[in-house]
Amino acid sequence: MALDDLYQEIILDHYRTPRHRSADLDGHDVHVHHSNPLCGDELDLRLRVADDKVDGLAYDGDGCSISMASASAMSEAVIGRTLSDADDLAEVFRLMMHGEGLKREDDLLDGVAFQGVAKFPVRVKCALLGWMALKDAIATYRGGSQEHRVTHE
Ligand code: ZN
Repeated sequence: MALDDLYQEIILDHYRTPRHRSADLDGHDVHVHHSNPLCGDELDLRLRVADDKVDGLAYDGDGCSISMASASAMSEAVIGRTLSDADDLAEVFRLMMHGEGLKREDDLLDGVAFQGVAKFPVRVKCALLGWMALKDAIATYRGGSQEHRVTHE
């Protein structure tokens, strides 16, 4: 199986069998809503923090297969990490999607499957949506707020 086909399979698997997809999360500390009007993707992300770590995370939304699958892969990769580490991993993913190299390949888990999407500029925002929501949720939490809405123009 060619690598592109394998990555395609991984993306489809996350889309069909989403991980940590839920409309609520018990005792969450922060809730962010991000949208990508270019594609029509809407994403809600809830984060629960304990000991400065991502203790729980749930996302829900209505969007294309890339945006929803990427949020699913993101959730698996960051739960249990410290906030700074999760934030760093989101930055690693962002750089990968902008074709600026791949680091921490083992930590991204299935997130690496989205590197092929970097070849399709209109889909890059879809793949980034969940990860940018995560970064924003961390920043919002650190800023002492509980809610934030962002539109990615
Ligand atoms: Zn999309």
